[in-house]
Amino acid sequence: KDYLLEVNNLQVTFKTNNTEVHAVRGVNFQLKEKETLAIVGESGSGKSVTAQSIIKLISEPPGKINNGSIFYKGEDLLTKPERYFSSIRGKEISMIFQDPMSSLNPTLKIGRQIAETIIRHEKVNKETAYKRTIELLKLVGIPNPEKRIDQYPYEFSGGMRQRVMIAIALSCNPKILIADEPTTALDVTIQAQIIELLNDLQQKLNMSTIIITHDLGVVANMAHRVVVMYGGKVAETGTVDEIFYQPKHPYTWGLLSSIPKLDSKEKKLIAIDGSPPNLANPPKGCPFAPRCPYAMKVCIEQSPGIVSSSDTQKTACWLLDEQAPITDTPETARI
Ligand code: SF4
Ligand code: MG
Repeated sequence: KDYLLEVNNLQVTFKTNNTEVHAVRGVNFQLKEKETLAIVGESGSGKSVTAQSIIKLISEPPGKINNGSIFYKGEDLLTKPERYFSSIRGKEISMIFQDPMSSLNPTLKIGRQIAETIIRHEKVNKETAYKRTIELLKLVGIPNPEKRIDQYPYEFSGGMRQRVMIAIALSCNPKILIADEPTTALDVTIQAQIIELLNDLQQKLNMSTIIITHDLGVVANMAHRVVVMYGGKVAETGTVDEIFYQPKHPYTWGLLSSIPKLDSKEKKLIAIDGSPPNLANPPKGCPFAPRCPYAMKVCIEQSPGIVSSSDTQKTACWLLDEQAPITDTPETARI
């Protein structure tokens, strides 16, 4: 198949004291070459855990990948020993996080941190590594890189630090960049600049990107395809147009109607009533049932199957079952 990455039936749990939290409960998705895939959902939906599983950033214990496969270039990463991942992380698949400060060493100059990453992965000399460092800083839009390499992390603004993290992530030419809430900690104008940069780089470098976010604005501005997660499962997946214009899952409708409308005076966020399920004791049926205005008896009792409404759109909801009663779905929910 022509997928770069294929995640099948991924199941991840976390054990704390006497409870076992079922954070990811059978997640499936694929990533194509040169594609940007958004994984969207509230906190606790399992989106970060899913992403971390790809490069085995789940610490065992308390975490455990119980089931599934993650095929990358035809090989199942989940069958590989730990040492295999040191050759994958950074070189094949790189990851950036929400808070760049916590990933940088505050006591080391920026140039040295990037150069050392390059030297660690590739057997190049210091001079070459520093040359690459300056090129990378240029690539991510940091002005005066020749001067900036001699500065410390605290001398960079939040946006510039995220650019540094992106430079480090790209330093070994990965095929896949995973970005977990990369703009969440930043001011709105800086967020837009980082999104523009990531889009730019994705095209220039022919990378595939997985962007993890709770922000549908980020999804709209970056993604080709979207995976909507809820309660540790995939609620719906589709192209960005399908998700925004023909969403089929009530949770997706809810997400879309919680985007603050720019033309409204209030600009308030209409959140979905209720709270996400407790994954220490996951619901038997559809995880969204307790909050879903369309929930039927079957929704509480049985997990919905997955229905394809196009080659690209798949939805896990009983409303799409052939035997479900025809429901009037609100046009207003479909933005
Ligand atoms: Fe709502 Fe039922 Fe669909 Fe779940 S399966 S989203 S509860 S209608
Ligand atoms: Mg997260």
